[in-house]
Amino acid sequence: MTEKASFLFPPTISALPIEGLDVKFPVGRIWCVGRNYAEHSREMRSDPERNPPFFFTKPSDNISTLSVLPFPPQTQKLHYEVELVVALNAGGTNLSPEESRRLIYGYAVGLDMTRRDMQEAAKNNRHPWSLSKGFDNACPISAIRPASLVGEVEQSLLTLTVNGDIRQSGRISDMIWSIPDMISVLSYSVTLRAGDLIMTGTPAGVGQVNVHDILEARCENVGELTVSYE
Ligand code: MN
Repeated sequence: MTEKASFLFPPTISALPIEGLDVKFPVGRIWCVGRNYAEHSREMRSDPERNPPFFFTKPSDNISTLSVLPFPPQTQKLHYEVELVVALNAGGTNLSPEESRRLIYGYAVGLDMTRRDMQEAAKNNRHPWSLSKGFDNACPISAIRPASLVGEVEQSLLTLTVNGDIRQSGRISDMIWSIPDMISVLSYSVTLRAGDLIMTGTPAGVGQVNVHDILEARCENVGELTVSYE
């Protein structure tokens, strides 16, 4: 006799809306690229020539589609980082950049929210900085737009305004690791799976968010996202 698998309590699944579809995109892991724009690398006091980009992760339940977010605890220095998000609907391991392209389902625009003061303290103490990047609602993301509707994303401009003032602006083509390159590099480290998201790094101009600020993130041909904090 076979019994249907059951769980001690209901599993939670993070998911994102998909533009134009009734089904949602179930989110697996969130892989993030650090210092993928040279100018941002320099503003973080790093040398992009000597220090290549790197990966870190955020828990998948950090995804938020709320437009008003609670201000997170344990920080006086919450920072925004606008990023292009790549959504995968296939997996693989040890992929070439060319092979990596077939994993891409679509794109979204997202915010890699960061408790910068906590991150700075962790760096100074040589502690892991996971919790400075991973906390409730640390990853606001727009709906996913299928790649077939986006077309070429390389020339898209990625921008962030705070209360109407432009703070971040960069072209996807300015990234140090291109999208196929970063998928390839990552696939030599972990087995990628359908449902994985990649946050591709932020251009220069990161800065602090205060309560009541209105953040508008935009990536040309991909989408937009507006959030505020209370
Ligand atoms: Mn980031």
